[in-house]
Amino acid sequence: MMAEKILMKTPLVEMDGDEMTRVIWQMIKDILILPYVDLKTEYYDLGLEHRNETDDQVTIDSAEATKKYGVAVKCATITPNAARVKEYNLKEMWKSPNGTIRAILDGTVFRTPIIVKGITPYIPTWTKPITIARHAYGDIYKNTEMQVKDGSKCELVCTDKDGNETRSLIHEFKGTDGIIQGLHNKDDSISSFARCCFNFALDTKQDIWFATKDTISKQYDHHFKDIFAEIFEKEYKEKFEDAGIEYFYTLIDDAVARVVRSNGGYIWACKNYDGDVMSDMVATAYGSLAMMTSVLVSPDGIYEYEAAHGTVQRHYYKHLKGEETSTNSVATLFAWTGALRKRGELDGLADLCRFADMLEKATIDTIESGVMTGDLFLLSTLPNKKKVNTEDFLCAVNETLKKLL
Ligand code: NAP
Ligand code: MG
Repeated sequence: MMAEKILMKTPLVEMDGDEMTRVIWQMIKDILILPYVDLKTEYYDLGLEHRNETDDQVTIDSAEATKKYGVAVKCATITPNAARVKEYNLKEMWKSPNGTIRAILDGTVFRTPIIVKGITPYIPTWTKPITIARHAYGDIYKNTEMQVKDGSKCELVCTDKDGNETRSLIHEFKGTDGIIQGLHNKDDSISSFARCCFNFALDTKQDIWFATKDTISKQYDHHFKDIFAEIFEKEYKEKFEDAGIEYFYTLIDDAVARVVRSNGGYIWACKNYDGDVMSDMVATAYGSLAMMTSVLVSPDGIYEYEAAHGTVQRHYYKHLKGEETSTNSVATLFAWTGALRKRGELDGLADLCRFADMLEKATIDTIESGVMTGDLFLLSTLPNKKKVNTEDFLCAVNETLKKLL
């Protein structure tokens, strides 16, 4: 074990959260980080009680701090619904913190599975991770739709700033009722998305795929394709050549077929709806939501790391009753290592980057040696597998880590 703790320069923005993940958060710090790193964080308590006390100002402050420092690590948080308003006696049904933070940072979320031996994806040829990037603005998520009656004539009408109208027929309903829908997206949002994706590809040295249905949607989807192509040509082509990575565009149905046949190891940029659907498909195929990491990347290179799963409420209520839990801390732990490594890269701290690498390796080695939490125990094909509780898993990782350092 090393004698001195690793020093940091710039603080990490630390966003604490709720329920079981809040319990895990403290354990990770106590067992695996504070003994090794002279941790510098600017702490924001995004636990629901504190969000309520501050009228959710703490969420906004934490996002502003992330803009200032460039790197954040976030614990899972409750998005209140009617039941939570009652449970926590809330002044209001506060908005999703992730939504608030994403709106302030204007970022794209990249989700990557953590792969370990003994847990084979449902598609066994996926030996490397597939990272999904979902465009988080517009399309059907900000649509206008109507049910219309037989005999209706439906048109798209656009009035420009000088009052000129452009009309285009959607459909004249004859002999039947029907449905119509209006969608939009914005060039600045699509451009931001493209830049986030290209930057993340460079950052992680992986190819990036993008797909739409441009052959059918010659204005709408084709415009996504054109914006990506233009930004790539102007701003990224040479950087990609230098890095030895590729930008690959194809039709969405062709992309799906190629993804299934692939070995993984690339980023798949998806339009909003495709990303919604495909991220669930990919997460399930890799085995466990508890092994899925997530990072929000802004177009100007700000990073916020977290686990993809929620606060694991059911386990928390067991924990409150004093019962033993076996909750998987891996995705939350990788949020910490991702943030520490990024901080290390930005501040030129090789020791900190190496520590993050070793902590990830220790986590994977521990699971591959057969020590794991209940969710993985159910899935693993290792012959010598052993189920341990939440805390004992982190202690086992620490024993592995001590040998690596
Ligand atoms: P969840 O916390 O992801 O948990 C759903 C179920 O998945 C758990 O009950 C558990 O299954 C399993 N699971 C998830 N993570 C696990 C882990 N680390 N280890 C072991 N098992 C794990 O989703 P939820 O119960 O729907 O949501 C709970 C709260 O989280 C909600 O208030 C929601 O608003 C919030 N949420 C926050 C975020 C975020 O902050 N990014 C994301 C999603 C949800 P078993 O019970 O079968 O063991
Ligand atoms: Mg979905």
